[in-house]
Amino acid sequence: MEDNKFYTLPKLNYGYNELAPNISEEQLTIHHDKHHQAYVAGANAILEKLDKARKENVEIDVKSTLKELSFHIGGHVLHSLFWDNMAPASKGGGTPGGRLADVLTKEFGSIERFKKEFSQAANSVEGSGWAALVFCKLTKRPLIMQIEKHNVNIYPGFKILMVLDLWEHAYYIDYRNVRAKFVDAFWNIVNWDEVDKRLSEIF
Ligand code: MN
Repeated sequence: MEDNKFYTLPKLNYGYNELAPNISEEQLTIHHDKHHQAYVAGANAILEKLDKARKENVEIDVKSTLKELSFHIGGHVLHSLFWDNMAPASKGGGTPGGRLADVLTKEFGSIERFKKEFSQAANSVEGSGWAALVFCKLTKRPLIMQIEKHNVNIYPGFKILMVLDLWEHAYYIDYRNVRAKFVDAFWNIVNWDEVDKRLSEIF
C-alpha cells in the first residue's frame, strides 16, 4: 500500500529466483525493478507536475497529461496485482478451491475450460496488454478481460481477480517470441489462494 501521496514499488512476496524455471531470476528482476519501477516513477512525476502547476496556477495540457497518468497508474496497479497472484511452484499452480472453484465451474463448465479460454485470451492479446479475470457485481458472473496497454478496454468498476502480463518485457528473456509457452508456464505459478481471497472480498 502507498505510504504517502505518491506511489511506491511494492516488494515481492518471494525471492527473485523463486519463480524459476517458469520465470527466471533475470526476467523477474528486470521486470520488477526496471519496468514496474518506471511506471511508479512515471505516475509520480505527473502527480508532481500537477501539484506544481496547481500551486503556481499555470496552465497544463490536461488531456495529454491525464492520458499519460492513466497509462502509468494502470501499469502500477496491474503489476502490483500480478506479483501477488503468482507464487513459487511449491505453493502455486494446481487447481483452485473455495468459492473461486465454484464460481469458475458454474460459469465456464469446468476449471479446464476456464484455463483454456483464459489462455486463448492471453495468447491473442494484440501488441502490449494483459489478460485479466474479473468479476461483475451486477450479474455475479466472472468475465475474462483483454486489456490493451495498461488502461484500455477495461470494464469500469469490475473487480480484478487475476492478471497475466503479456507485454514482451514480461517474457522475452525466457521465451523469446513463443508467448504461448509463457502462458502455459503461468499456470504452474498461479496463486489461486490470492485469487480466491480477492473474490471473497466482494461477498
Ligand atoms: Mn510488465
